[in-house]
Amino acid sequence: MQYVTLNAGIEMPILGFGVYQISPEQTEQAVSDALAAGYRLLDTAAAYGNEEAVGRAIKSSGIPRGELFVTTKLWIQDAPAQDNTRRAFETSLSKLHLDYVDLYLMHQPYGDVYGQWRAMEAVNREGLAKAIGVSNFYPDRLLDLIFNNEITPAVNQIETHPFFQRAAYQDLMGEHGVQHQSWGGFAEGRNDLFTHPVLTEIGKAHGTSVAQVVLRWLIQRGIVTIPKTVSPDRMAQNLNVFDFELTDDQMAAIATLDTGTSLFFDHRDPEMVAFFSKRRPNG
Ligand code: NAP
Repeated sequence: MQYVTLNAGIEMPILGFGVYQISPEQTEQAVSDALAAGYRLLDTAAAYGNEEAVGRAIKSSGIPRGELFVTTKLWIQDAPAQDNTRRAFETSLSKLHLDYVDLYLMHQPYGDVYGQWRAMEAVNREGLAKAIGVSNFYPDRLLDLIFNNEITPAVNQIETHPFFQRAAYQDLMGEHGVQHQSWGGFAEGRNDLFTHPVLTEIGKAHGTSVAQVVLRWLIQRGIVTIPKTVSPDRMAQNLNVFDFELTDDQMAAIATLDTGTSLFFDHRDPEMVAFFSKRRPNG
């Protein structure tokens, strides 16, 4: 495994396992399989509804806590004020059966962002979250948060895949010491990613799948990635990306696939602001 060092001074595996859209019933088995396959970074969220199942899988794995890197995320309506953010954090911790998380992310750039961030700074200072960061922040919101608060986010987890590459934004985040993390690294299969001719051709040259090409491309860009799968075979395949290297020409060929826009949604779109602000996954 390769690691990145976060601005909080801790190491984070560059490749991990995401559990979005895995039902609570399926999650314990999926996470147990992922841990058995060798994953040590787990990415969940209060809004995914599966923190308890993640916690059960961690507990039954017997893997020492220090070997794991666990991320969870704060949902908007759980945190309209600082006290509520603290409560939401403690709820996540207790569902995960953990004493601390390695990374706590603000899931969306909405609501009382400053109040949430100050409460997150407090849990970070107390050592309950070894690092804190954000997700889905576009550059304007990220810089505003950086310049007007004490702690710079360690990570920004954003949509990043071959069709939305975010190279300029990665540079900007790098200038401020914010680690780029990809969500939807496979674009959830959109744009026929898994059969894309350019990616397929590169895979053939290395004897790998398209999925492995995409993960390798993210890793060579220094981006932390957290592919999701419920299949143990794919878990193993997605982890097996450290024994080949894409050439400069192959990296350049993938660079041409960038469309510069989201395949999902733009967090600055008023309709999305309304959609997310009304969504109450936690009741
Ligand atoms: P993704 O990883 O881009 O794609 C997952 C899809 O790819 C699943 O349908 C999976 O199918 C398939 N797949 C996985 N490995 C494969 C392989 N080797 N060959 C062929 N198909 C494969 O999508 P994602 O789950 O949206 O993103 C990953 C993680 O990012 C999430 O789990 C979550 O932790 C995080 N995330 C965060 C946010 C945010 O707002 N912060 C948003 C979305 C996601 P099977 O499961 O059937 O194998």
